[in-house]
Amino acid sequence: MRMLDYLVRNACLPGENTLVDLAVADGKIAEIAQSIAGDGPSFDAAGQLISCGFVESHIHLDKACILDRAKNETGTLQGAISAVANAKSGFTEDDIYARGARVIEKAITEGTNAVRTHVEIDPGIGLAGFNAIKRLKADYAWAMDIEICVFPQEGLFNYPGTEELLREALDNGADLLGGCPYMDTDPNGQILRLFEMAREYDVDLDFHLDFDLDASWRHLDEVAKQSIAFGWQGRVMIGHVTKLSVLPKSDLEDTIAIMRDAGIGLTVLPATDLFLTGRDHDHSVPCGVAPAHKLAAHGVCCTIATNNVLNPFTPYGDCSLSRMANLYANVSQLATEAELENCFAMVSDAPAKLLGRSNKIAVGEAASFIVLPAQSRAQVVSEISRPIWGMKDGRVTFEHPAAKLIRP
Ligand SMILES: [Zn+2]
Repeated sequence: MRMLDYLVRNACLPGENTLVDLAVADGKIAEIAQSIAGDGPSFDAAGQLISCGFVESHIHLDKACILDRAKNETGTLQGAISAVANAKSGFTEDDIYARGARVIEKAITEGTNAVRTHVEIDPGIGLAGFNAIKRLKADYAWAMDIEICVFPQEGLFNYPGTEELLREALDNGADLLGGCPYMDTDPNGQILRLFEMAREYDVDLDFHLDFDLDASWRHLDEVAKQSIAFGWQGRVMIGHVTKLSVLPKSDLEDTIAIMRDAGIGLTVLPATDLFLTGRDHDHSVPCGVAPAHKLAAHGVCCTIATNNVLNPFTPYGDCSLSRMANLYANVSQLATEAELENCFAMVSDAPAKLLGRSNKIAVGEAASFIVLPAQSRAQVVSEISRPIWGMKDGRVTFEHPAAKLIRP
């Protein structure tokens, strides 16, 4: 009997009818076949779906789990920003590390094996958040790949010293730059400076953008303009963009064309967008969730992500991306197999591509995958399937034993 590092038996590949076994050797998929003979540790998927892990394209680990010390009194975006800004003065590197670790561990058990995390940098917090996330990145590499996006949450031009700290972070391992022009006294200036720095450091950009429901103004066009001017098409994401949710059909189509031409992708953060927007309405509250599926249908890179966990921006959170995909589908009134499948793609294929990861289950690829109690990707979204088992680079990282009925 041949000795295998690991064997996954009876797995259902998306869109395939016959079950397969997957042999793992040296952290990679060595063989996929209907019945593989071999000895070694194994997991019986029992006919359930095998998939690459979920990819979280936008999460704030540094300000997660702070509801005990920061309350959003108004429920608005401004209320959340000021509550966190106040609490931030009490953050220490070890405190950020501990809260971040709690979120990462939860995300691992929900089937996520890669994240892009946004980290606040300014003279108040200094590099404490960045240093804590760097430690988390090293300590959890066995289960989670972490991409660090540093950004000026409290503004760039209105907060002297911030740019120098962003540069220090980029010199010391930050992977990309984020932005938040609506917080700056000079929004277009911030956008331009961030593009200049992105070119200097050869990094991608990921903006928090257009986070309200007022369609009379926006920063999207300036980001699109600079994306083309700098040749940064395909390297720019914008998150929230709740203004897109109030555009009539023809305006939305024009905007989609602008984003496609500028190579800009969209990240929707349904939990936060639903919680914070429309607070000035006392009835018929608008949902404020950008219609990502309509943009994706026209070739725009679209992802669905968690954003915040248990803080003034989003006082909920289980780090489950199947739940987030379901939330988006529900709010967006999506129901067909194809529509739900597209929602799954927005928490797997699209964010994987964004983070430069392969998302294929094939011989030679990394043995990094999860098993979900479902037979299709659409079913995962409709039922909020929770992964029962996961592996990264050939090593088992978590297991959720299936629930068991105890009959009389
Ligand atoms: Zn965010």
